[in-house]
Amino acid sequence: MSRLSEVVEKINSQAGFTGLIRYDEPMSAHTTFKTGGPADLWIRPGGDCFPGYAAELLGAAKAAGIPVFILGAGANLLVADRGIRGIVLDTGDWSGWNGPLVRETEAGEGACILVRAGTAVDALAEAAAALGWGGPDFLAGMPGSVGGAVWMNARCYGHSLSDILLETEILDESENRVVLPGRAEDFSYKKSPFQGREILILSARFALERRPPAGIRRDIEERRRDRKAKGHYRFPSAGSVFKNDRTFGKPTGQIIDELGLRGLGLGDAMVAPWHGNIIINRGNARSADVRSLIEEVACRVKAARGFDLEPELRFVGDW
Ligand SMILES: Cc1cc2nc3c(=O)[nH]c(=O)nc-3n(C[C@H](O)[C@H](O)[C@H](O)COP(=O)(O)OP(=O)(O)OC[C@H]3O[C@@H](n4cnc5c(N)ncnc54)[C@H](O)[C@@H]3O)c2cc1C
Repeated sequence: MSRLSEVVEKINSQAGFTGLIRYDEPMSAHTTFKTGGPADLWIRPGGDCFPGYAAELLGAAKAAGIPVFILGAGANLLVADRGIRGIVLDTGDWSGWNGPLVRETEAGEGACILVRAGTAVDALAEAAAALGWGGPDFLAGMPGSVGGAVWMNARCYGHSLSDILLETEILDESENRVVLPGRAEDFSYKKSPFQGREILILSARFALERRPPAGIRRDIEERRRDRKAKGHYRFPSAGSVFKNDRTFGKPTGQIIDELGLRGLGLGDAMVAPWHGNIIINRGNARSADVRSLIEEVACRVKAARGFDLEPELRFVGDW
């Protein structure tokens, strides 16, 4: 029996496991780019057993020397065409909240909302707004899960996720549940303290603010409309490919536009004809095409302007 099946056997022998387990699961089904080859083993535990099961799985995989990749909504990933070796732990069904949605913070400084890591950030914004609270509304329309957005310190419309993050509950490297305060000094532009650590984000608590409900609703709809108008949902993509950098003096997308690179294509991968910092999959792009196109754009920007572009999306798997 392979080490992988041994881990699965061990885990499945636990009472109470619910969820999905598949061998050779195509990652193209789990990324917004709709590219990426098979994961050796893909597991999406059910919401009722998630934390206990995840702790057992991570411990057993570590003991067996099998790597585990944590998957949120797959909105910031370029997965290799050869796929991912080891286990992909999908947090998609660990969503929603447990207990009252909105509560007072323990320090008594206002209201907050506690959500599980697999919750879509758009659903978080919507849930808070439905109860008359703002705060997470800037995330409306952004693809991705709470866990992925915390890990990436996602940023849009002038706000970073860390601006509203009060606490994160994680399973640490020893599979202990630990609650960490969301200290502003630990986060920076698209950086969180979780990058570079082998942890699983279980849930996060966010600060809420009282604003007139009609204004919150208007802002939410405006974000969604704006993203639609900017072509975010027209083709599969992972949003912005490169980070912005203040030292460039302008947004990265504008630099790419000025060099006339919109519409540059490789196979079915293409720099969006309407946005220089988005690469789209026009149908049958391979991840290798996307990656080569990213390198080509970075190379041309370096040659013309001398800037080193840093990719924002993550290259994952067996490249
Ligand atoms: C159309 C479009 C528009 C976008 N616009 C924006 C934007 O405006 N601003 C922005 O910042 N991003 C944007 N993105 C990118 C993406 O939405 C964000 O980066 C999002 O936060 C990724 O979340 P995810 O759940 O999809 O994470 P994934 O892509 O699944 O994972 C990203 C990283 O987070 C880790 N991770 C995920 N969940 C957990 C967890 N529970 N515990 C530990 N690690 C975890 C993964 O291992 C991986 O390293 C956009 C993407 C698309 C497709």
